[in-house]
Amino acid sequence: MTSQEYIDKAEANLIHTYNRYQIVLDKGDGVYLYDVDGNKYLDFTSGIAVFALGYNNKAFNDALKEQIDKLIHTSNYFYSPVLGDAAEHVVKATGMDRVFFTNSGTEAIEGAIKLARKYAFLRDGNTDHEIIAMNHSFHGRSLGALSVTGNAHYQEAFKPLIGGVVFADFNDLQSVLDKVNDKTCAIIMETVQGEGGIYPATKEFIEGVRKICDEKDILLISDEIQCGMGRTGSMFAYEQYGLKPDIVTVAKALGCGVSVGAFAAKENVAKALVPGDHGTTYGGNPFVLAAVNKVFDLYDELKIVDHVKETAPYLESKLNELADKYDFIIDRRGRGFMQGLEMSIPVGPIIKEALEKKLILINAGTNIVRFVPPLVIEKQHIDEMVAILDGVLANVK
Ligand SMILES: *Cc1c(COP(=O)(O)O)cnc(C)c1O
Repeated sequence: MTSQEYIDKAEANLIHTYNRYQIVLDKGDGVYLYDVDGNKYLDFTSGIAVFALGYNNKAFNDALKEQIDKLIHTSNYFYSPVLGDAAEHVVKATGMDRVFFTNSGTEAIEGAIKLARKYAFLRDGNTDHEIIAMNHSFHGRSLGALSVTGNAHYQEAFKPLIGGVVFADFNDLQSVLDKVNDKTCAIIMETVQGEGGIYPATKEFIEGVRKICDEKDILLISDEIQCGMGRTGSMFAYEQYGLKPDIVTVAKALGCGVSVGAFAAKENVAKALVPGDHGTTYGGNPFVLAAVNKVFDLYDELKIVDHVKETAPYLESKLNELADKYDFIIDRRGRGFMQGLEMSIPVGPIIKEALEKKLILINAGTNIVRFVPPLVIEKQHIDEMVAILDGVLANVK
């Protein structure tokens, strides 16, 4: 079949929720992707911050194949040999005490919201608790996660959403304080806002929020679905602030392409959920947990977090050079391999042009180019990316 035939067939049967690029991707290798016509693309998106290890990692693929031949799924009424290791990996990495595995990021958020509500219910017996979420946040597309997503455009047509959610301004402690009352059960935020435009939390803000939470027995939920798993140069971004949340949500790179997410919590919080309170048929089945275990093993073996810490300054300096060179670039910001270039112009045409030159980039909002490459990229890939992007930016009128 030709590329166009693949596209036409898919479009004939899909609900049209995406304006996809007219490219049919067929295979991947390292930091490169190949389409069905054999074109090679340098990938600086890693399937939206997912494929941290790079494509077609043999050890990873072999671990998946081995598990497939043993056992793909059991219900959560049984244990499997991979379960204990996976739970221990996530608990150790997050600094939490207990974990629940989900199928996706949005489900991790749903679980975190339910856990926070149950915790508060046990605290005071009330059922009118409030969650403070941030403007310009993104937490997912299911109705609970959408309800804490601070983006009117995503929410509008799907109201009524879940109740008891109020919004404050990210990095504005006073606006959070203004929303805190006796009903508040949780404050949810991304440590580095992703979709909203690559905004890292300031130290004063996140410390201030932690302090409010401690004083009022409010739970801090850190959504680390995009910024976690080493992307910002520490396993989880909150480590760089020297504090811990009460609940952490993880997904994206956790399974490196295998559908898995998790929410983890401190012991005193986690124990609020008891048998019957929450569940999932697929979540954390042996297949996905074999992937999780191999991801953590390979992070260790390849020293992924150290690599990000060592290599990210080079990416930052190269992006800074572009920001200096082009006056329509307003700002370069981010942490580690989660970077953004904010422009005074819409970035859609720039991303499209880059794609024509075989570089895959993604936006965050209308005027920010986002860089979330596989965490295994080397300096040479950064040079290759910058050379292509520079060529595209030079033609911007
Ligand atoms: C992607 C993302 C989600 C949603 O994850 P899905 O797996 O797409 O449901 C939630 N929070 C953040 C910060 C994300 O980047």
